[in-house]
Amino acid sequence: MRILLQFPEGLKQKALEYAQKYQDEGHQIYLSSSKSFGGCDVAFEEARAISADKIIHFGHAEFPLHPTFKRYNIPVEYVEYHIDLNDRFIDSIVEYAKKYDKVALGTVVQHIHQFNDIKKRIESVGVEVFTSKGPKCAYEGQTLGCDPYAVISLENKVDAVIFISGGKFHYLALHKILDPLSIPIINANPYSEEIKDVSDEIKKYIKRRKGIIVKASEGKIFGILVSTRAGQFAPEVAEKIKETLLSKNKKAFILVSRSIDPEALQDFNVFDAYINTACPRIADDWESIGKPVVNTNEINLLLELI
Ligand code: SF4
Repeated sequence: MRILLQFPEGLKQKALEYAQKYQDEGHQIYLSSSKSFGGCDVAFEEARAISADKIIHFGHAEFPLHPTFKRYNIPVEYVEYHIDLNDRFIDSIVEYAKKYDKVALGTVVQHIHQFNDIKKRIESVGVEVFTSKGPKCAYEGQTLGCDPYAVISLENKVDAVIFISGGKFHYLALHKILDPLSIPIINANPYSEEIKDVSDEIKKYIKRRKGIIVKASEGKIFGILVSTRAGQFAPEVAEKIKETLLSKNKKAFILVSRSIDPEALQDFNVFDAYINTACPRIADDWESIGKPVVNTNEINLLLELI
């Protein structure tokens, strides 16, 4: 079988190990060397170019079937990568949760295999634990940078959120489209073993994003970014946004690329601001892009200003 193996950033160093294993089983192996950041980003274009029979996508959970996935008709096997929290750190999370009567529990796919165990351990000390499932996520309690629903939907039922994730990427998404939750969000970082309230940091992030939207609203010419990455491809959304901007007497053009590359955009000196229809976390790179970037789900906030 011709198989394309795809690894996210941070896991590419494991690629050879797996490539050798599948090769020894008699498969013809290709490695995708493109950047890959999420389960949404399956390397269909490369797989089609090499006539692969199958893609094995490492490091992320299955992403719900996007219409573009169907178009390629190439089977995808997702192989998650799990990282254990040590027992002592789980005890610290349980201890912290005791401050509250009811908590919402959430995490990322790397730690999802221990989710139920952690939930039970928090419940065993008398704290009620609520969980939910987001539409783009494969598991109860899992969040993505583009799908915080599993946590934010529980706001009115609990006293706090206990969220387990390394880095800021996932917890900075825990808001209701730039409206902060009214309860504390506690992040437990399994790598630094730090447990801290990140609510103020999220509020500052929201404030920064709102400032960027105000800046964008002053623009006259908008570039609407469409990525051809399979799970992010949204040309119809871009066309609708273009029509709306034209009706507001703005100029708007749709730009298509696989990766939203700040360097490539810098050469388009003509745009005052960008609307991003791809991964919402690309907007966080707005400083390197050099112009304000507004996400699709923030478009109403922008339209209120223009
Ligand atoms: S769109 Fe962005 S945040 Fe959502 S799964 Fe893809 S890479 Fe992750």
